[in-house]
Amino acid sequence: MQAKFVVLPGDGIGPEVTRAARRVLEAVASQFGYSFAFDERPMGGCAIDDYGDPLPQATLEACRAADAVLLGAVGGPKWDDPNAKTRPEAGLLDLRKELGLFANLRPIVAYDQLIEASPLRRDLIEGVDILFFRELTGGIYFGDSWLSDDGSHAGSVMEYSVGEIERIVRLAAVAAGNRSNRLTSVDKANVLEVSRLWRRVAARIMADEFPDVDYEVVLVDAMAMHLISRPRDFDVVVTGNLFGDILTDEGSMLPGSLGVLPSASLGDGRPGLYEPVHGSAPDIAGEDIANPLATILAAAMALRHSLDLEEAAQAVEAAVGAALDAGLRTKDIAAGGPAIGTTAMADAVVAAISREL
Ligand code: NAD
Repeated sequence: MQAKFVVLPGDGIGPEVTRAARRVLEAVASQFGYSFAFDERPMGGCAIDDYGDPLPQATLEACRAADAVLLGAVGGPKWDDPNAKTRPEAGLLDLRKELGLFANLRPIVAYDQLIEASPLRRDLIEGVDILFFRELTGGIYFGDSWLSDDGSHAGSVMEYSVGEIERIVRLAAVAAGNRSNRLTSVDKANVLEVSRLWRRVAARIMADEFPDVDYEVVLVDAMAMHLISRPRDFDVVVTGNLFGDILTDEGSMLPGSLGVLPSASLGDGRPGLYEPVHGSAPDIAGEDIANPLATILAAAMALRHSLDLEEAAQAVEAAVGAALDAGLRTKDIAAGGPAIGTTAMADAVVAAISREL
């Protein structure tokens, strides 16, 4: 098995956490006998400094030719000038668009070892393992919008085509088939015409192509409550851009720690983009104290979703669990107790990978 990763370390803690994830991928390659190549490219604020462009053409070309792209994070106060010609985040938006990434995957996993950090009671959060599929390139964020000349009215249009709904429901249904065979589609079909189309199309795809997947629909307002009151009842959840934006942020609070949340963005083919949910954390950059686990778990998602290496993905996830079981914590998840640094946490995951296999 050969695969090429493009690594975009980005800004702030990005270089530290991607270095950790790369070491873990190298350990996996060595254990399983894979050959992984890594190509590091500039993107974000550092690319603005060196090339005047947050997504230089050469970086984009390298990403297109990769099997998977691993991103740290971009941005920081240095590039926050509102009058600047471009911003680091523009590079990320362009990259998603250029790679045709229409599905954002956000796993919400409650690690038993960190459960005390959750704002929910143990009996509610224990065992939670949800995978959100949020549509990323359509809906209200990309529909027509207008402001009347006198500034007294404004509007934004939520629009979806049949094709846009079909492709993300299919991706989510395939993922559900590989997990516990349950899929929940979230909409607002009691009010919105666009949601009624979403519901009809999703129902047809599920009936015609995935009759064995246990499928349900939930209204978005109810889902906002269920996520808090009975999160364990959900496995794979698929929804549109706006609802997904809000629900995934709500969901990301459940495990209680930003430092362990990965995400992936997928299109129709390769490559996918894999990154931690957190930002560039400029307040702790360069101190070797950032938690690398979110980026390491993003690398595991790359193994699963872009390279189809399920066994290797599970080995990485088990190694993260083993490091946590051993009581190892970076400062953000240490709850005031003893903490180790970024490099030491990566060392522990690498060592656990060798031990697990
Ligand atoms: P942030 O996620 O960078 O940081 C929020 C808080 O969480 C900070 O106190 C930080 O120290 C802490 N934190 C974040 N990741 C951590 C980790 N791995 N280990 C330990 N602590 C961690 O969010 P912010 O402060 O709002 O944004 C900082 C910069 O990151 C901004 O320029 C923002 O635009 C950018 N940002 C980038 C992305 C991205 O690249 N996808 C996402 C969000 C924010």
